[in-house]
Amino acid sequence: MSNSPSRLTHAQILWHDQTPTSSLFGDVYFSDEDGIAETQHVFINNNRLMERWQQLSTNRFTIGETGFGTGLNFMCALQLWCSMNRGNRHLHYVSVEKFPLRSEDLLSVATRYPQFDALYQRLILQYPANVRGFHRLFFPDLNVTLNLLFGDASEYFQTLDGQVDAWFLDGFAPSVNPDMWQPALFSAIARLSKPGATLATFTCAGVVKRGLMEAGFNVKKVPGHGRKREILTADYTPEALPTRSFKPQQKPWFHFPYETITAATTPTNVAIIGAGLAGCAVARCLAQRGFEVTVYDTEVEPATQASGNPTGMTFTKLSVHDIPQNRYYQSAFLYSCRWIRKVLEFANMAEGEDWNFNGIIQLAFNEQEANDQQLLLDTDYWPTDWLQPLTVKALKTRYNVDSQWPGILLTQGGWLNPRMLCDVLLKHRNIKTQLGVGINNMQRLSHGWQLNTNGESYSAVVLASAFSCNQFSFTDYLPLRSVRGQVTYLPANPATEHFQHAINYDGYINPAWHGFHCVGATFNPKITTPQLRSQDHEWNYEQLRSSLPQLAQDLAAEPSSIAAGRVGFRCQTPDYLPIVGPLPDPDYYKVQYADLAKGFLKREFPVGEYLPGLFISTGHGSRGITSAPFAAEIVSSYITGEPQAVDREVLRAIHPARFLVRNIVRRVYD
Ligand code: SAM
Repeated sequence: MSNSPSRLTHAQILWHDQTPTSSLFGDVYFSDEDGIAETQHVFINNNRLMERWQQLSTNRFTIGETGFGTGLNFMCALQLWCSMNRGNRHLHYVSVEKFPLRSEDLLSVATRYPQFDALYQRLILQYPANVRGFHRLFFPDLNVTLNLLFGDASEYFQTLDGQVDAWFLDGFAPSVNPDMWQPALFSAIARLSKPGATLATFTCAGVVKRGLMEAGFNVKKVPGHGRKREILTADYTPEALPTRSFKPQQKPWFHFPYETITAATTPTNVAIIGAGLAGCAVARCLAQRGFEVTVYDTEVEPATQASGNPTGMTFTKLSVHDIPQNRYYQSAFLYSCRWIRKVLEFANMAEGEDWNFNGIIQLAFNEQEANDQQLLLDTDYWPTDWLQPLTVKALKTRYNVDSQWPGILLTQGGWLNPRMLCDVLLKHRNIKTQLGVGINNMQRLSHGWQLNTNGESYSAVVLASAFSCNQFSFTDYLPLRSVRGQVTYLPANPATEHFQHAINYDGYINPAWHGFHCVGATFNPKITTPQLRSQDHEWNYEQLRSSLPQLAQDLAAEPSSIAAGRVGFRCQTPDYLPIVGPLPDPDYYKVQYADLAKGFLKREFPVGEYLPGLFISTGHGSRGITSAPFAAEIVSSYITGEPQAVDREVLRAIHPARFLVRNIVRRVYD
């Protein structure tokens, strides 16, 4: 077992006949009589899932669970959901697990439950490596999201935002696992519960009953399953209103009122402004959740601006430093690789043609990078499922790359044609496009927004149009800058066509696509010309030549012979994190938080207020393919109220209000 701080202790499973038992806890994962009947009785029936799903008033439902374990509860819920729901309805299942099973153990469970075998196989294909944190899996044909949080239940539910409809409170018995059944867990569960949420648990221990009652649940004893005489069920109907003001340390300006999201307040139709990757990804995520979506763009085709390079890669620099910025990009990288793969496979796009997620080679191209890579490998921070060392020899023998540097392989990543991805994303029955239609102004209505003068109105709008996101009076504080990037196209030839992997150094080169390699990219915030510049081609070529001289030689003898390429303008923020989330009401913020500039840090401040139905995803810089799909999930979770894709600290790091509050503190509006 690794000692890396990023890893958890794996479950230690012993099989007693048909029953998996934990040797760490000395307790069973499910009943030794009939696990499925037990789940059905305890969790499904006592949460009245069948009845509630028949009468569902929205297109969505969320189940929360402590202890994912073997996934049997998930399978039972999934099977019932699939038998009752088709089309637009979306199930979100969020489960926390501190001792994840190995895939091999899941496989053993699968063989004992042939009725779930196909579902288990699909779970195992996506099942994350043993790394702490949020892992969001997606089953496109079932329209189901599994949000697996690997870590301690109390700790992770305290950092989670969103709303749950029904709880499966599993976990080993309080007598053998007292650490889990703590007041902090019960209050975190209460905070995450939608008004009217239900809960069921297999135990009727006093500590659980009292804990739930103290957290505000109405608790009842009901008959148990098999030998178990009684179990507990509960519902949550809070009497007190949620707290509306906090000390500055708790950053009330980032607080988002998930509890106000109900069937009545959920938007019916949504406009997305911008048909680049950011907009197309949000459109798809919302369409999957049953929203009618219309995507606008001034251009007549999707993906014409920063998303318009012929090939790009999903990439992030993995790090051992557990800070919000790294957590955002690492989660985004892992999620986006999984999600894009699922979406493209679902659309029957053959891997190897316009995309290939066969891994990214990252060269240790200078001392700093070599040290960083060595630290990753020495600390065993990331499992070999995700990160593998590559010696100079392995680069040559396995990938035919002549490099003086060793490197690492990011196994999950790969390259793709972003335009193809945008086209696939927009192909959904709930998505319409209005291409060639620019949006220059928006009027707030009593229930939504009208686009342009006399244009269509929508109950929600997502701004995803890069720089032009700050063209409105209510977004003019967003510091978006344009960074010119030029890529160079180098014609493929027999010596280079065999390259199948994207390679990253201080630049990058992608495998041949439609006869040429895309080599990038320059980074010029100060240059605005859209024309190709020969010195930029030279720069791209020199970067390639300094890291991969043989490949550079094979591709072009002289940089002066290079003529083809493309210029794009990335939309960048000063802190290199994107802007993702609900848009604050600037007038309210300027008044309510004015005292922050005077250093009044002891008093409480009211929570933030937002422009109703207005959200944003922009500022993805040169990491659009990696960041935009993940940001789309985050925006969708804000709109639907389903549990978020990442912890609260990261949500705050990418929140649009960070720039507004910073301006207020700096007295920009005095
Ligand atoms: N729901 C599971 C299933 O369908 O297989 C069975 C759950 S098993 C009875 C209890 C689970 O809770 C185990 O997987 C265990 O590792 C997990 N667990 C125990 N303590 C935990 C904690 N503090 N935080 C998160 N998970 C925990």
